[in-house]
Amino acid sequence: MPSSQEKAQLAQTDNEIFLALKGEEARQRSGLELIPSENYAFPEVLTLLGSAFTNKYAEGYPGRRYYGGQENTDRIETLARDRAKALFRAEHANVQPLSGSPMNQAVYLGLLEPGDTILAMDLSHGGHLTHGAPVSHMGRLFNFVRYKTDPATGAIDFDHLLAVAREAKPKLVVCGYSSYPRDYDYADFKRVADEVGALTMADVSHIGGLIAADVMRNPLDAGFDVMTTTTHKSLRGPRGGLILCKEKFAKKIDASVFPGLQGGPHMNQVAAAAVTFRLAALPAFRDYAQQVTVNAKALAAALMERQVKLITGGTDNHLLVIDTVASFGINGAEAQEALDRVGLTTNKQVIPDDPNPPMRPSGLRLGTPAPTARGMGEREMTEIGGIIAETLAAKGDRIAEEKLAARTRALTSRFAVPGL
Ligand SMILES: *Cc1c(COP(=O)(O)O)cnc(C)c1O
Repeated sequence: MPSSQEKAQLAQTDNEIFLALKGEEARQRSGLELIPSENYAFPEVLTLLGSAFTNKYAEGYPGRRYYGGQENTDRIETLARDRAKALFRAEHANVQPLSGSPMNQAVYLGLLEPGDTILAMDLSHGGHLTHGAPVSHMGRLFNFVRYKTDPATGAIDFDHLLAVAREAKPKLVVCGYSSYPRDYDYADFKRVADEVGALTMADVSHIGGLIAADVMRNPLDAGFDVMTTTTHKSLRGPRGGLILCKEKFAKKIDASVFPGLQGGPHMNQVAAAAVTFRLAALPAFRDYAQQVTVNAKALAAALMERQVKLITGGTDNHLLVIDTVASFGINGAEAQEALDRVGLTTNKQVIPDDPNPPMRPSGLRLGTPAPTARGMGEREMTEIGGIIAETLAAKGDRIAEEKLAARTRALTSRFAVPGL
């Protein structure tokens, strides 16, 4: 965090940017962050992101760098790798990916050849852009084949998955999601992949923190070859990516990240990730992760009590998806805007096989990592569920919305934002 002296200097140099920073801090304090991929970084993370490590070039890996002056960068990167391996029970870790998307690209490009087939989950069923969306470069470079969830249960039908895998003969089976509210049994994916001789990759970008805390299953325990996660979502670290893999893929993965895909790693981010992995190994973080899932269930229960329809009828993790069309007769964009007006930040979301386009989809996605980091518990989730349901039912009635916004402010004024 910048000191008040540093902020005064910024105000003098560039008042426009200074005012935007003040505005963002105020927005984060008075509003409530319910986007499941967002969180509040640990205060130590903010300190290190603005530290001297931002000045340093460190192309290469510890002990094998292209520039001099690496005694401190080598130390932090070695600590970051060792802590990540211990935290996730992994044989090898690469802490250099600049964010989640290049992290996944580095895996595909390191283990496969362009044109190879990858089996991954359909975007509208919860997959991520980097899992082969046609608009992504990866979708052009590789042949992505998709699996879906069963519309009746919301779960993955593994007999269907096996049939698709036998037909497509993928080199890699990818699981992981951005908007799927359930857990997996990773052994089921591993069985399918083994049957067709494919490698396995779990992209746990959203739930990395819940896996670190052993609140959700760890794909590496099921024998997965590769696991990727962002460090800025449920882990509360710096924006960045982490690749964990079996030792036999270490060389290929490292060479794919650098020099294959990236140049100099962001050493301020690596330092912040190292501290994050230490904090995530502590009992307090386990309690936090546990509370994230308890809160998600409480929020789901509060909404369902008010006849709100949730995709898959609930949640096993930190997120839930409301079918806003079925519940309130409005699309996800209208729902997101109404909630913005009462101080709740959410995001519109496509639902499985959504008949509506991504900018006006049928759903809305919510998550509990950020409110839990502020110290909120089940009682607050019940209040938030009430505010959401009443706001969406109010259909733009500004007088009702004013009262609901006051309820949000009453709630957020009692819980500080970590690090601000
Ligand atoms: C967020 C996310 C990513 C990408 O992360 P960015 O840091 O935004 O590039 C990749 N995969 C999944 C499943 C994600 O949820």
